[in-house]
Amino acid sequence: MTQPATPRPAPDRLVVAIDGPSGAGKSTVAALLAARLGAARLDTGAMYRAVTLAALRRGVPLDDEPALAALARRLVLDVADDRVLLDGQDVAAAIRSPEVDRAVSHVAAHPAVRAVLVDAQQRWIQDHPRAVVEGRDIGTVVAPGADLKVYLTAPPAERGRRRAAQRAGQAADPAAETAALEARDRLDAGRAASPLPRPEDLAADAVLLDTAGQSPDAIVDELLARLGPRRATPSAPQSPVASQPLPGIGARAARRLADWRARSDPRGPWPPEIGLGPRSYRAVRRLVRAINRTAWRVTVHHPERLPTSGPYIIAPAHRSFVDFFVVAELTPRTLHYMAKAELWRSRLLGALIGVLGGFPVDREGVDRQAMSRAETVLARGDVLVVFPEGRRIEGPQLARLEEGVAFLAARSQVPVVPVGVGGTHRVLPKGRWLPRLVPVHLVVGEPLAPPPRSERGRVARHQVHALNEALAAALQACLDEARRLAGDDPPTSAS
Ligand code: C5P
Repeated sequence: MTQPATPRPAPDRLVVAIDGPSGAGKSTVAALLAARLGAARLDTGAMYRAVTLAALRRGVPLDDEPALAALARRLVLDVADDRVLLDGQDVAAAIRSPEVDRAVSHVAAHPAVRAVLVDAQQRWIQDHPRAVVEGRDIGTVVAPGADLKVYLTAPPAERGRRRAAQRAGQAADPAAETAALEARDRLDAGRAASPLPRPEDLAADAVLLDTAGQSPDAIVDELLARLGPRRATPSAPQSPVASQPLPGIGARAARRLADWRARSDPRGPWPPEIGLGPRSYRAVRRLVRAINRTAWRVTVHHPERLPTSGPYIIAPAHRSFVDFFVVAELTPRTLHYMAKAELWRSRLLGALIGVLGGFPVDREGVDRQAMSRAETVLARGDVLVVFPEGRRIEGPQLARLEEGVAFLAARSQVPVVPVGVGGTHRVLPKGRWLPRLVPVHLVVGEPLAPPPRSERGRVARHQVHALNEALAAALQACLDEARRLAGDDPPTSAS
């Protein structure tokens, strides 16, 4: 089990995320940029609007979250490029009505509805090697590993004026449009589930652009310049017409089966409903914990140091295969493991880790897909386990830590918790097949805060390096303490 240092651009894949409030110019910029890049384009706002339109037409109450999510699952949506088809019917004009405008933010605030649509959006991205995706949460939740994350904005009066101009002929009033979109912005920014980020909360690598007084072409030129060599068009440009429709949101059973298969394929798509459903996951965790308590009598020291909520990274020392199981004693929360890709050589083992919410990392070089998956876990507010030594080693000294954990913590702005593990190296030493029943001790260290961002939202490399150094020192102290408590053998040399 290991983790990479910094992202590696995947050849021939390009994802651009464009977020921002209504009327900021996202659609215009996305269309121009997609054309220049030979990329497919997805307007995720049109998806929320189409579900809202269907709910209004069918009389589904806007506060009935389960019914709205069930409706979203049943609908067949195709909103890529210039198409807006709802169950095969063209609804491009209908989804822009004032009724849909007023209702859409209420529908989009329901986490269960978002889960269905985010799932469909991530699948669409998987199917499109070059994609421009616009919305509110693309850079933060849907595609946190995007090659370029853009946040467009403009003063409210300017955005209202643009909206009124788009409705020309319908007696639109700029002041009323401004008030309506400000109301929608407040709902979008204030909701609990993946809110519209405020410019000051943007990811460190997001580009913030005010579109007021700028021509769309100038903005697109700037974005292309920022993409640099990554913009190079592929040998067979993706025709917008040839792009795949969104996977039907019906056909749930078929998708579940495909998910199960995909999880045993380390390079396959990784669905957002990561791993088993909550009930099955809890059942597996209960079994693992029962084994931990009876076989290894795992004792956790300083559990109060673990954050009580929110996303964080658990960074344990790694001395045995068993470490994977014993860290489950730290918290009842769902854990997602970054695990070495070699484990997926066994389809059965790979599928098992996959359904438990784990994902592979390629230890040769830097694995961009693994980084993106790790960021997805953290963006969802979950707990990620990464063994920062990168491999199982022997002895009392830590191996040199790679900077991947510190980099992830800084990028996602989450704390890292060092955990010393004592006793596990005696459970299954090399050459032994039957595990020994020895007591195991876990020592939780104080969480290390991520480095603050600069005013421009960046974290400097030297700060990542400093966090890595602090983690190494804290983790060594936890490891020493855990080994002392476990009465571990005199030190042997690191392999
Ligand atoms: O972009 P557009 O104005 O068409 O989006 C309509 C609404 O859909 C937004 O006000 C927001 O409530 C919701 N939305 C969202 N997440 C996205 C895209 C849109 O919540 N990714």
